[in-house]
Amino acid sequence: MNVLVVGGAGYIGSHCVRQLAAAGHRPVVLDSLVYGHRAAVAPEIPFHACDLGDEAALARILADEKIEVVMHFAAFAYVGESVTDPLKYYFNNTVATLQLLRAMLKAGVKKFVFSSTCATYGVPPTLPMTEATPQAPINPYGQTKLDVENALKNLARAHGLSFAAFRYFNAAGAAADGTIGEDHKPETHLIPVAIDAATGRGPALQLFGTDYPTPDGTCLRDYVHVDDLARAHIAVFPKLATPGAGFFYNLGTGTPTSVREVIAAVEKVTGRKVPVVESPRRAGDPPALYADATKARAELGWVPEFKTIEPIVASAWKWHESRPKGYADR
Ligand code: UDP
Repeated sequence: MNVLVVGGAGYIGSHCVRQLAAAGHRPVVLDSLVYGHRAAVAPEIPFHACDLGDEAALARILADEKIEVVMHFAAFAYVGESVTDPLKYYFNNTVATLQLLRAMLKAGVKKFVFSSTCATYGVPPTLPMTEATPQAPINPYGQTKLDVENALKNLARAHGLSFAAFRYFNAAGAAADGTIGEDHKPETHLIPVAIDAATGRGPALQLFGTDYPTPDGTCLRDYVHVDDLARAHIAVFPKLATPGAGFFYNLGTGTPTSVREVIAAVEKVTGRKVPVVESPRRAGDPPALYADATKARAELGWVPEFKTIEPIVASAWKWHESRPKGYADR
């Protein structure tokens, strides 16, 4: 299929572009390059540097490239910034997505795959989290994603849009060959920050909170490999054949991993010590988030290939080791 990958030069999008091409589809990338990297996309893949606010350009691209499915990875994703500058998040995540959807409907493109997040659940009352866990986001980032989820339900009813929204847990790792990976500026995610601390490229790791009600006092998260996430986006295609059908799936391994366990994995994989400064809790961090991904397994046959933290960290290390400055090394 001809697939427009919006945010295809970003972290998860770029891994999906590769898999689409490998599976015989025709990915076309659209990216504003605000956070994406041109070098994350192979030169032979059609590439449009474009903003979602430019609906005339979107209309042209959808028609000229004969797009059948749109995958939407492009979003701002700094939780702390969403708290201090919510309008930036409402405009870039919610409004821009609605503009994309309007352009799609005008062009008669009615299949949509959306990157949502476990942040739509807020602090879950029970664990592991299923798709039926109540959604009560505790920050504007999660709220903007939930707003899009809700809009999708209405568009499915009104216009026959078929869609899948994937609620990612903690995306991590890099492609097996180490040539594409995570490169955020600024970087705030635990694994790359811990790797930079281990190599001395960054400061000591601030460990946010050691007094949580968890086995070792640090937060539990569900780290899921970026290539496993990407595979679900392609596995869902048959489901989108039914007009007006909408699906929500959690994507996580189901394995809770503490911050201290991640640090231990980074030390083992890199063979270096991670300097750690035990610090106060970070505002807005729920103590534990991990998925029940039974639904994705049952309906999509989605089984993560990476089930534990060490191989995920090893793939991230391969990328960081070969390109310590990320895409700036190209
Ligand atoms: N974390 C930490 N130090 C850091 C970055 C993250 O202790 O420099 C912790 C954070 O408090 C959370 C976990 O690591 O418990 C994962 O954080 P990350 O920002 O990677 O993802 P999030 O779960 O916030 O989406």
